[in-house]
Amino acid sequence: MSTTLAARSDEYLPRDTADVVRTVRDSRPQRLTVRGGERSEDEFPLPDRRVVLSLRRMNRVQAVDADARLVRVQAGARLSDVDRTLAAHGLGLPIVGDHREITAGGFAAVGGLSAASHRYGMFSDNVVSLEYVDPDGRFGTCGRTHNAEHFRRILGGAGRTGIITALTLEAVEVDKDRTWLTSDGHRFLDFDTFVEHSHAEITRPGDALLQVGRWVDTSPLRAALPVGTGSVQLGTVRFGQWSSLHPTAATPSLRARRELGSRARKGLGAIASAASGRAAMPVRNAAAGALMFSPKVMTLRDAEFLADTVISSTERGPALRIAVFAPLSTYTSTLHRLHDLLTDHRERSGYFTVISAMTYGVRSPYLHELAGEDHGFITFTCRLRPAGSNTDALIRDVESGVDEICRNERARRY
Ligand SMILES: Cc1cc2nc3c(=O)[nH]c(=O)nc-3n(C[C@H](O)[C@H](O)[C@H](O)COP(=O)(O)OP(=O)(O)OC[C@H]3O[C@@H](n4cnc5c(N)ncnc54)[C@H](O)[C@@H]3O)c2cc1C
Repeated sequence: MSTTLAARSDEYLPRDTADVVRTVRDSRPQRLTVRGGERSEDEFPLPDRRVVLSLRRMNRVQAVDADARLVRVQAGARLSDVDRTLAAHGLGLPIVGDHREITAGGFAAVGGLSAASHRYGMFSDNVVSLEYVDPDGRFGTCGRTHNAEHFRRILGGAGRTGIITALTLEAVEVDKDRTWLTSDGHRFLDFDTFVEHSHAEITRPGDALLQVGRWVDTSPLRAALPVGTGSVQLGTVRFGQWSSLHPTAATPSLRARRELGSRARKGLGAIASAASGRAAMPVRNAAAGALMFSPKVMTLRDAEFLADTVISSTERGPALRIAVFAPLSTYTSTLHRLHDLLTDHRERSGYFTVISAMTYGVRSPYLHELAGEDHGFITFTCRLRPAGSNTDALIRDVESGVDEICRNERARRY
């Protein structure tokens, strides 16, 4: 087999589609775990130590058709690299993930959303056609206009329905380094107003190129009193922000502010990444807080990777994540009910600490076809207290509550 075996004995690194076909056939009946890029075992543990097939060496941008605004890439191409190549043609990807390592195949396989989804839907909505290798090692092609049913099964199939080896993607005309955005930010101290505002912005985004709402709700903070006298409860911190980023003209003073802001965020990201020991959590929380108050001006490219500068260094520790697409007609009730479910659980069980939410609009032709309307994306992250004894039962309970809300509100799990 010409497939290269990586330093780790359980990882294959094919160089082309023929290599993928051979690897899948030779591995049968064993099922391979597909990966887009490189991930450490700590970050992404393998279920029962399966053999991994990583597409990271199939990372070429193969052709750009500037007139048709199309780009053909191998599945392991990083979206940040594809976007850089497109920039030379005055083009860019409408949807990119929030960190630079995400690959085209990996993102298409999960659907892929971003703060531009209120304009451009999911990453998978922007895939025109693809090549794949099925679980039996057969090569095939599919697209919007041929094998459309299979196309849909592979997009969002998370690698279970076939390994994507190459994709043709739609691009848009944009100069991400010279498109300046100004942030129209609103802050909230109560959840009801945050929900109302989010719904209004998702329904009528105006000319916003990016939009995102974030809500944070800590568990009651306790302060220790001098030895032997116990602790006092200081109450819960709750706040939210909605940011819509609109195009603006670049001026020298905006450029200077952008430079200052971007240096400060990078510095904060580096400090948060390096933080360890007892000081680590407050530093990371401060970094996440800084993200809530995102800068007033920046370029579109800065804004797309804003989270990468700070958040990736803060997202550590066990957490329960719930993500749903809610039709706009039931968006506010879905958001309220999910919030109530999670905060009630925290009160009863004490297993969650910080509960945070992120939300934005999704105008996906695929979802629109299924539901007859546009959607809001809602994701909740609940930090788990370490060493909770009955965590599995708790998670099952939460999951079934979420499923019931989705059934009643016609929402879909992501
Ligand atoms: C369900 C889910 C949804 C996510 N949604 C978003 C999001 O909307 N926005 C965002 O910024 N981040 C999202 N993430 C986090 C992360 O950014 C994405 O998982 C992203 O796709 C990771 O890219 P990757 O190239 O490293 O893929 P990996 O993390 O290696 O793989 C992601 C999934 O895709 C499969 N896969 C990878 N490559 C291929 C391929 N070539 N063919 C077929 N299947 C493949 C994998 O088996 C795995 O199931 C999501 C994560 C998950 C698990």
